[in-house]
Amino acid sequence: DLAYIVADADDRVVIVDDVLLPLWQKVLPLLTTPPRTIVLPFTGQPVAAGWESYEEFIAKDATTYVYPEQDENEAMGMCYTSGTTGRPKGVVYSHRSMVLHAITNCLPDCLALSAHDSVLAVTPMFHANSWAMPFSATMVGAKQVLPGPHLGADDLLELMQDEAVSLALGVPTIWMMILQALESAKRPWRLKPHMRMMVGGAAVPQSLIAGFDKFDLHIKHGWGMTELSPVGTLAWLKPEHEALPLAAQQQIRARQGIALPLVELRIVDEAGRELPWDGTTVGELQARGPWVTGAYHGLPADPGSFSGDGWLRTGDVASIDPEGYMKIADRSKDLIKSGGEWISSVDLENAVMGHPAVAEAAVIAVKHPKWDERPLAVVVVKPGKEVSAAELRAHLAKSFAKWQLPDDYAFVEVLPRTSTGKFQKTKLRSQFTDYVSLTPS
Ligand code: AMP
Repeated sequence: DLAYIVADADDRVVIVDDVLLPLWQKVLPLLTTPPRTIVLPFTGQPVAAGWESYEEFIAKDATTYVYPEQDENEAMGMCYTSGTTGRPKGVVYSHRSMVLHAITNCLPDCLALSAHDSVLAVTPMFHANSWAMPFSATMVGAKQVLPGPHLGADDLLELMQDEAVSLALGVPTIWMMILQALESAKRPWRLKPHMRMMVGGAAVPQSLIAGFDKFDLHIKHGWGMTELSPVGTLAWLKPEHEALPLAAQQQIRARQGIALPLVELRIVDEAGRELPWDGTTVGELQARGPWVTGAYHGLPADPGSFSGDGWLRTGDVASIDPEGYMKIADRSKDLIKSGGEWISSVDLENAVMGHPAVAEAAVIAVKHPKWDERPLAVVVVKPGKEVSAAELRAHLAKSFAKWQLPDDYAFVEVLPRTSTGKFQKTKLRSQFTDYVSLTPS
């Protein structure tokens, strides 16, 4: 995939951390036009002979730079989609789209970013522009804290404490790990009160929001895609929600949220007809706006991805309520169809993760002779805790109809993750292809 991306993007210069050189040496022979390689001494060791060092590279050059006049619609950067099916696809951002995206993210009800913030983006730079932080945080003059190679809970907590981080960003798997470390109270962490965390890239369970609220740390749930630069929605409370009980507020905050200004959303049925915003009807989610891509780099506009009238087909299935809060039911490929009825894997996994003994969970479809598909919950139990399949089923029975309840539970040590830290459902599905569902026919 790396060789494909470098060739597809026509990269001329590649900057590589020295720790990644062994990987890069495997990529180079696959390229017909190898780019110039510049090596960053990440480990602090001198750069190995035969490689161009970053420090020498910048020392040779002028310390001033005159920016050329550029059209705002010219390309300013690219990211590649994570490509869980097929090849990664390139998304090109323009100066205009990135500036508008960067400004909007700073608005008070969005991330309320200011020069007073200390920002820690745990999201890597290759994952959808590190969620705009290189641009938004730089624009307002916020302090930026970059994580090193160690992304364990204690490493990140130490960084947040020492650098008085007031806004941190990352995928839910990171925050599940951090919450467990806080709850275990092995070390008395002193984090900045009211620290905000923008969490997205995958659904945020309500239990995670409630868990952090107890520590006076505030999760803001967001939904986005590489194709949207990435931020499309953020879940913030409206003034009329302020008087609601905490649990009701947390339920609203667990939705994916309201479209950012300038972003439009709609849900449509299979024939492309627009569906109502009633909070229950689910359909394919489509988006358009100044930072929503209209094409993939070097590819013809495919009707599977673009509606033809300006809307991006996101591949997500969602509902939108009358107040404009969007809720993702699934990736369309992850939906479980049991006896002709759809079951949302996202709702089930969030509920399983709400059980106090569960560290992480993912729900996938497995084959069933009568019902076609049934949900299988793949569960990681917290260290030192125990829970049975029957207990999990009883826990879910409080909030799901009987036919939606998984009879099947697999207990594993770890869940496979993508390069961006999300649960890798394609890998889980291939791990469990031969699994036979226990649901009676
Ligand atoms: P990527 O471009 O790799 O960030 O992947 C984008 C996809 O991640 C979206 O189309 C969604 O399927 C998923 N995603 C992103 N944010 C969320 C969220 N808050 N809840 C559920 N799924 C999400």
